[in-house]
Amino acid sequence: MSSIKMIDGRLQVPDQVTIPYIEGDGVGAEVTPACQQVVDAAVSKAYQGRRRIDWIEVYAGGKAHQLTGEWLPQTTIYAFREHVVGIKGPLMTPVGGGIRSLNVALRQTLDLYVCQRPVRWFRGIESPVKHPERVDMCIFRENTEDIYAGIEWDAGSAEAKKFYKFIHEEMGVTKVRFPETSSFGVKPVSKEGSERLIRSAIEYALSHHLPSVTLVHKGNIMKYTEGGFKRWGYELAEREYGEALHSGRLVIKDCICDAFLQNTLLKPEEYSVIATMNLNGDYISDQLAAMVGGIGIAPGANINYQSGIAIFEATHGIAPDIAGQGVVNPCSLILSAVMMLDYMGWQEAGLLITQAMERLFSQGIATADLAKYMPNGQPLSTKAFADRLAAAL
Ligand code: NAD
Repeated sequence: MSSIKMIDGRLQVPDQVTIPYIEGDGVGAEVTPACQQVVDAAVSKAYQGRRRIDWIEVYAGGKAHQLTGEWLPQTTIYAFREHVVGIKGPLMTPVGGGIRSLNVALRQTLDLYVCQRPVRWFRGIESPVKHPERVDMCIFRENTEDIYAGIEWDAGSAEAKKFYKFIHEEMGVTKVRFPETSSFGVKPVSKEGSERLIRSAIEYALSHHLPSVTLVHKGNIMKYTEGGFKRWGYELAEREYGEALHSGRLVIKDCICDAFLQNTLLKPEEYSVIATMNLNGDYISDQLAAMVGGIGIAPGANINYQSGIAIFEATHGIAPDIAGQGVVNPCSLILSAVMMLDYMGWQEAGLLITQAMERLFSQGIATADLAKYMPNGQPLSTKAFADRLAAAL
């Protein structure tokens, strides 16, 4: 088995590489084989046998629970650490058992601090906006901090009372309108956490020759948390990327989150790489995905650019309403695999896939969720679509 290694801040990728994958629950059993079929065909075509992926299955979610009694076995975490780059289908959220979400557990355990979501439009895909072709962005959403850290207490609990007593009596806080019936949450936002996220976004913009990085925040209201994110971002750019800034290779700007959501509808062409905090990033990702065709084709990844560890993933859920029917759209996972190939430096194979996908969509060839909105739509099953895509490479 040949693992990817991170040496001196650079990924070393062997030509025969082992990639761990989690099949995923629900429609995972359908999108994962479709994705592997297309990726294998693209790698074979791009490199004529010189490069190859050996997939090894690792377990999480329902399949892991059935096989091992655990939802997220340690062996799965070890496999992602050892092999550095991996991919996963969607996972169900276990009810009870102390796990809020397996996705969150994976991100936290492996400290995958960037949630990266590229958003672009493919000709042929129906969109609710007039000019979807102007949407071409890559979102860098901070994954480990903010109000998402899960530090919160329910109204009326002993912890909520204790917390209120502390902020009221020791910190002099008098602004809580209904203290007896208030729940409380804590929003930690650090300089280190903000800087490592913003640095990744800047590096990505520079290495892909992209026009700008926009810091999206709500610092006009939350001055120290969201405002800190913005200030630390500008300071970091000045300190570490001064030459690129002053030569014009790098443009840093910022936008308040509510205005940003509006602007992306009105003038999306003004934005390229987006660096933002956890909660803002959640809303932004869904709005932008909806503008270019929605859940079935939105790819994503969770990445730690320092350790190199990266897990590429379908962004949709397990879709229990259509699981087992052979109709699910595999493009979210396939485009996540394209991101993975790009991350590994195997761009040629990724490009073959996106170009073939563009050709099929423009002829109306897609799974039913997309084809039903296309004037010339020809709905295909998941398997038939994967076959057509592999043949069109
Ligand atoms: P969902 O994404 O599973 O489904 C929402 C709707 O979109 C459904 O009608 C579904 O049929 C449709 N849909 C989703 N993906 C599709 C695809 N690729 N092709 C065609 N149609 C598609 O979201 P949900 O119903 O909110 O969540 C169901 C379960 O999935 C929950 O247990 C949730 O926790 C889990 N979930 C997991 C992830 C993940 O692992 N990344 C993400 C979201 C939700």
